[in-house]
Parts: sequence; C-alpha cells; structure tokens
Amino acid sequence: MSLLNLLFPRRCVSCGKIGRYFCSNCFKKIKYIDRSFCPVCRRYSFDGSVHAACLSPWSLNGLTVMAHYKGPVKQAIKMIKYRYVSHLAEELSGLFLEKYPSFLNKLDILVPVPLHHQREKERGFNQSLIIARCLGKNLNISVRDDLLKRKRHTRPQFGLKINDRKTNIRDAFRSYHSEVISGKKIGLVDDVATTFSTLRECAQELKKSGARSVWAFVIAHGN
Ligand SMILES: [Zn+2]
Ligand SMILES: [Zn+2]
Repeated sequence: MSLLNLLFPRRCVSCGKIGRYFCSNCFKKIKYIDRSFCPVCRRYSFDGSVHAACLSPWSLNGLTVMAHYKGPVKQAIKMIKYRYVSHLAEELSGLFLEKYPSFLNKLDILVPVPLHHQREKERGFNQSLIIARCLGKNLNISVRDDLLKRKRHTRPQFGLKINDRKTNIRDAFRSYHSEVISGKKIGLVDDVATTFSTLRECAQELKKSGARSVWAFVIAHGN
C-alpha cells in the first residue's frame, strides 16, 4: 500500500466503506441503462445509432450512455466535479470500457465537451476532458480538446426547462482545425447529459468542419 493510500484511503463514494470507490454492495446499486435509444427521437435503437429517418447531415450518428445519473454514479461524478478526484474518473472510465469495449475502438479522435474557459478557470479542470483522457489512454486514441471551444458563457443547463436549454446552448460552440476534423470518426465525451442538446450542438459544429461521423459517449443520463 502506498503512503498516499495510507493517508487518504479509498472510500466508497456511496457508503464511505474503506477499500474501493464502489464497494461491492454499492456497485450493485449502479443503474446501468439497458435499453439504448436514438438521441434524436429517443425511441429504441439497437445499438444507440441514429435511425436512418432521423439522420441529418449535421446530426449525431449515435449515442452510448452508460448509466442513469443516480446513486453511486451520481455521487462519483459530483466528487470529480467538486473535489477533483481524478482516480475516480479512471474508475468510471473503466466501467465504461468494460461495458462498451468495441464501440470506442472504431474511433479516430476523442473530443471532450468543452467547458467555458471562465468556468474551467474557476474549477481548474474540465471533468469531461479527464474522462476522455482515461478512455483515450486505454484505447490508444488521441484526445483533442482544442478542436471545439465554447464561444460564449452559457448558463448552466441544470434547472432550465427543455426549450430554455435549447435556446441557451444554441450556437454556443465553435470548431477549430478543420484539417484535423475532416474525414474523422469522432467520439464526443461528456460526463452527464440531460436533454442531449449540448451534444447535438457540438456534433453540428464538428460536422460543419467535415467530421465523417460523431458518436457521443456519456457516463450518465439524468438531472
Ligand atoms: Zn458502498
Ligand atoms: Zn430516431
């Protein structure tokens, strides 16, 4: 056991038991999403790919969401956000990779959903970038956080009604380095998504720069 582990032993994010971030008991409480759906119409889709009828030139090509934003997963994401526990991001990414190994292998680049630089400055990091880096390291896929930037400061989506969320996020992103984006299969990584409007806006920007496909990977879905 390392000194760091002795001083700050890992505790279960949910019940506080020493040993692991998800103790065996709380691990069972993770609510995985067992029914994949099309991010455009929200109806069932075998592997989360967008239905042919729902696909437009600027839309996402598919969506993979791991779990509901509840219980231990919610507690883990909050801990990453507010206390920067980067090992926890590795743990969540590990769960994701166990569940969906083949999906991510087909990608060229991983792009995290950007935070506005002002918020990133306040917080010191972008949790989606940390998750993307863990996924990228394991799969040997490069992670680029310079391809997509937030143009303006949007209000947090949390607490807004669906229509307000759409207006709030519309036209909020801009893509850069189209020479890198062009022709690539991109994995868009986010920690939590509620209405997917942020992911749709990001996909649109990446596709305007020539992305061949954009598939979103989200750890948790919910409020
Ligand atoms: Zn526990
Ligand atoms: Zn659909």
